[in-house]
Amino acid sequence: MTEDAAAKADVLVDALPYIRRFWGKVVVVKYGGNAISGEDDDLARFAQDVVLMRSVGMRPVVVHGGGPQIGDLMQRLGKEPEFHEGLRVTDAETLDIARMVLVGKVNRDIVSAINVHGPLAVGLSGEDAGLITASARSPELGFVGDVENINIGIVERLLSQELIPVVATIGADVLGQSYNINADTAAGALAAAIGAEKLVYLTNIEGLRRDVDDPESLIRTVSADELAKLVAEGYFEGGMLPKVASCLMAVHAGVHQAHILDGRLPHALLLEIFTPEGIGTMVTA
Ligand code: ADP
Ligand code: MG
Repeated sequence: MTEDAAAKADVLVDALPYIRRFWGKVVVVKYGGNAISGEDDDLARFAQDVVLMRSVGMRPVVVHGGGPQIGDLMQRLGKEPEFHEGLRVTDAETLDIARMVLVGKVNRDIVSAINVHGPLAVGLSGEDAGLITASARSPELGFVGDVENINIGIVERLLSQELIPVVATIGADVLGQSYNINADTAAGALAAAIGAEKLVYLTNIEGLRRDVDDPESLIRTVSADELAKLVAEGYFEGGMLPKVASCLMAVHAGVHQAHILDGRLPHALLLEIFTPEGIGTMVTA
């Protein structure tokens, strides 16, 4: 036997405790719009990771964003973005664009990348089978929605059929009006509703930093209480805020661990799940 083959066997044996620990457990993975917009290989590698998780007995659920992709199409259509107190105003036309991009493009791309490995992934939006009920956040923002309720039934049914649900975060209110929902918030709410073992955010930075400009200030592990204090002290800005808030919500609701990692790092998910040291930031109750 070659040394190379022996090293491969070692890798598998080292992964064994993690495979046993996460057997049958639900892991919700939020794949950020910024992580997706990397190289094409990134999506293929992400798909491999998800399929590997599923192949060793985990039950992954993918929730994805697509902010940059929505912005790109708006620009191509010559539509001026409009902001109200830092948040994108979503008029009826913008909502149509967001829905087309998220459900018709980003969701399809992820589903196809996974299904290269077999008939595994099923794409759905929060509108399907009443998964995400939404309500308007504020009249000024138009069709920006908050999660009102999660009806996890459809996701559980897909998981029980050994499928991998891939969720685009458009929700609908009781009258059928659609809303664009922040994917970080939706991922946290979904993880809480299903009682996930882990919630993982794949983004474009290696984890939470005490100082956003200083890579040396990475926070490796943090308790929910410590994290709430850092939030109150204003350590996090912009796109990190809904992630942090959702991590806190999810661990308070019983999700064991929430993680924030750099989705552009090849096989970030595998490094987090199958190695003792993990990567990125881990939030625990
Ligand atoms: P995604 O597409 O994954 O949702 P976002 O751009 O919305 O990505 O959120 C990630 C960004 O949050 C980072 O690129 C970073 O600029 C920003 N951020 C703000 N404060 C912090 C912090 N304290 N630590 C790490 N990132 C931070
Ligand atoms: Mg974001």
